[in-house]
Amino acid sequence: MVAKGYLKAKGLGFCPGVRRAIKLAEAALRRYEKVFVIGDLIHNEGEVERLKELGLRIVGTIEEIPEDGCMLIRAHGSPPQLIEKAKEKGIKIIDCTCSRVRRAQMTALKLSKEERYVLIFGDREHPEVQGILSYIKGKGWVIEDEEGALNLPLVDKAGFLCQTTKGGEKFLRIARLLSERIKDFKFEDTSCPEVEKRRTTSQELAKEVEIMVIVGGTRSANTKRLKEACEEMGVKSYLVERADDVKEEWFEEGKKVGITAGLSTPLWEIKEVEEKVREIIDKRWGRKSP
Ligand code: SF4
Repeated sequence: MVAKGYLKAKGLGFCPGVRRAIKLAEAALRRYEKVFVIGDLIHNEGEVERLKELGLRIVGTIEEIPEDGCMLIRAHGSPPQLIEKAKEKGIKIIDCTCSRVRRAQMTALKLSKEERYVLIFGDREHPEVQGILSYIKGKGWVIEDEEGALNLPLVDKAGFLCQTTKGGEKFLRIARLLSERIKDFKFEDTSCPEVEKRRTTSQELAKEVEIMVIVGGTRSANTKRLKEACEEMGVKSYLVERADDVKEEWFEEGKKVGITAGLSTPLWEIKEVEEKVREIIDKRWGRKSP
């Protein structure tokens, strides 16, 4: 096959939820002296490091935030109990929760008020899922796969939603399975269309190449799903957090390379990876990539 260097997926860069969280954080850092966040504001280490250099302080508990501090609520949302505690302490709160995550939280609450058993398709330990559960005071059941759905205790009335990054075929398959087992079953699609859009553009690119490089945080759920989506297309796929993670031996001469990235990956990080891929191709193949 003729070497054609590398290609990039269309429309890379932050999704609206991440973009908003970063803008709010930057504005808070300009305005307030002590700005804190419990855990990661977003799941991208490089971007979080950049915000730390601007003064953002990452802590593990609310006790570490002083009364005259300002607290950012992460894009994945936080338990309402934590927000209450912050209010009691008099801490200034800036809510960076993405509106789509908020919608999932409110949907769970609505289903719970209808006295339905709340079933959530997602990663049990993901902060977004933990946040959703806290809105219904832990009275929900997390389903991670088909087996989880089959092991569910028998219930008569339930509502089913998903972590925003977890829509797609598997979610629908599990929904069908549950609807056959539960008499009064309500399905709520709380998946984020941005995730689906990025998956589609990445799979379209994967059709044209033989190696895919996916740029993003290893803790980012949507980035991990992108890697799976590219692998489904039968393409060798590598997840990298930064340019240094890109390995020369992945690139066989003549194989076309595609680059895509997660929804919380900044453009500057994609550009650094792109430069590294270009360097390797030029060096190994002894030619100038486009
Ligand atoms: S992926 Fe969707 S739900 Fe998640 S932060 Fe971005 S816009 Fe919000």
